[in-house]
Amino acid sequence: MKMVMFIHLGIHQQVYCFRRKMNIAFDIHGTLDKYKILRDFLWLLSRFQHITSNVRVYIISGAPEEQLIKECEELGLPKKIKIISVVDYLKKKDVEMWQDKNGNWWTFAGEWWPSKGDICREYEIDILFDNDKRYKENIPDSTVFVHVG
Ligand SMILES: [Mg+2]
Repeated sequence: MKMVMFIHLGIHQQVYCFRRKMNIAFDIHGTLDKYKILRDFLWLLSRFQHITSNVRVYIISGAPEEQLIKECEELGLPKKIKIISVVDYLKKKDVEMWQDKNGNWWTFAGEWWPSKGDICREYEIDILFDNDKRYKENIPDSTVFVHVG
C-alpha cells in the first residue's frame, strides 16, 4: 500500500514532504478499525500536526459525529483530530435522510457516494485513505484516493 512509503521515509524526508500544507484524512470502518498500521501512521501524523501547522489530520466517516468520537476513543486514536461525519454533513445540506429500526441513517445512493468527494473539495483534503472505492468517483483530482484493503 502507498502509505508504507510514508512510514519508510526518514524523519528529514517526512518534514520535507510536509513543507507544503497537507490535509490527510482517514475513514474508520474497514480502514482505521481494520488496520493497525494505519492507526500507527495516523499517530505519527498527529505528532507532526503537533509540531507544525503544515499537517492536519482528519477523520471522514459515515456515522454521526457523536458515534465517531466514541469509536475514535475505542480505537485509541489521538484526541486532536478533526472529525467530519458524512451523516451530519448531508443533514446540514438538507439532504433527505431517514433512520432504520437500528438507528442507522440512510439516504439515496446518489447523495451518499459523492459526499466524501464534496467534503474533500470543501476541506482541501490532499490524501484520503478509504476502503470503499464507491467514493472514488466524485473525488477531486486534487485529492489522492488511497484504496485500503
Ligand atoms: Mg469504510
